[in-house]
Amino acid sequence: MQIAFIGLGHMGAPMAINLHKAGHSVKAFDLSPDACAQVKAQGLQVAASAQDAVQGAEAVISMLPASQHVEGLYLGSDKAPALLPHIAKGTLIIDSSTIAAATSQKVARAAEAAGIAFIDAPVSGGTGGAIAGTLTFMVGGSDAHLERARPLLEKMGANIFHAGSVGAGQTAKICNNMLLGILMVGTSEAIALGVANGLDPKVLSEIMRRSSGGNWALEKYNPYPGVHENAPASKGYAGGFGTDLMLKDLGLSQENATAVKASTPLGGLARAIYAAHSIAGHGGEDFSSVIKMLQKKG
Ligand code: NAD
Repeated sequence: MQIAFIGLGHMGAPMAINLHKAGHSVKAFDLSPDACAQVKAQGLQVAASAQDAVQGAEAVISMLPASQHVEGLYLGSDKAPALLPHIAKGTLIIDSSTIAAATSQKVARAAEAAGIAFIDAPVSGGTGGAIAGTLTFMVGGSDAHLERARPLLEKMGANIFHAGSVGAGQTAKICNNMLLGILMVGTSEAIALGVANGLDPKVLSEIMRRSSGGNWALEKYNPYPGVHENAPASKGYAGGFGTDLMLKDLGLSQENATAVKASTPLGGLARAIYAAHSIAGHGGEDFSSVIKMLQKKG
């Protein structure tokens, strides 16, 4: 299939590379020349612009940071004209960015009015899952559109869930990430407490992993350097899932909680903690660096 892939960051690049490896013809684009060069080195075709990328595409996949980027790309902004008029009727758009459900619905309405299919398909599984092709997709959209997308999603992920109509994938995603944000702070607190008492972080992490405190961070993404060789914590908190992206997702979950009058006190507290961590200069580091706020200094 001919695919336009827009947004080649930590997640988008490995996802596009997996589609290329599966034999699809991928025309990729990112505003960053470095991001384009990285996928070109893997044999992907690089487009000169988003408009160029969508020429002849049967599917358009976007993996951008936040709501304003997705809305700006498809519907236009003061920086760039809308991409939708350049996309052929009958094309399928798969937006895998984590954004507000309301933005997915707004873009979907405009796409459907132009005869273009749209699903929101945010992901979970981190950069490791993106590289391994084992992501979890949370899809919002019609059954028919999901079935069209499925062969492509299967090349990038291991689990595909249909959460409901357009926007439902985003709602599932922000519930998951609110829980992830909370559990990373909790895991960091527990490890920092143990280390302040002289415990070995590896031994303590293994005890908790096999006990009732076991969770994803302890399994795969330990916030303490050196416990998991491949986790961002062991690479100076480089790569991975940025603190500012987690802050965005916790903002989305709090906005949503306000809209539906839900009580999410720990989500609110976690948002405040990541905001303080970002303001202290750690916005670009992986979110597990939040442990730095909780560690005893000196
Ligand atoms: P990233 O910042 O590494 O990459 C985003 C890319 O989009 C950048 O390369 C940027 O140049 C590009 N971009 C922005 N606007 C553009 C435009 N108009 N046209 C073309 N390119 C544009 O972010 P990421 O870590 O890859 O995350 C992408 C999305 O996936 C976010 O919504 C994030 O919340 C979500 N997500 C990330 C992870 C993770 O572990 N990193 C996991 C699950 C979901």
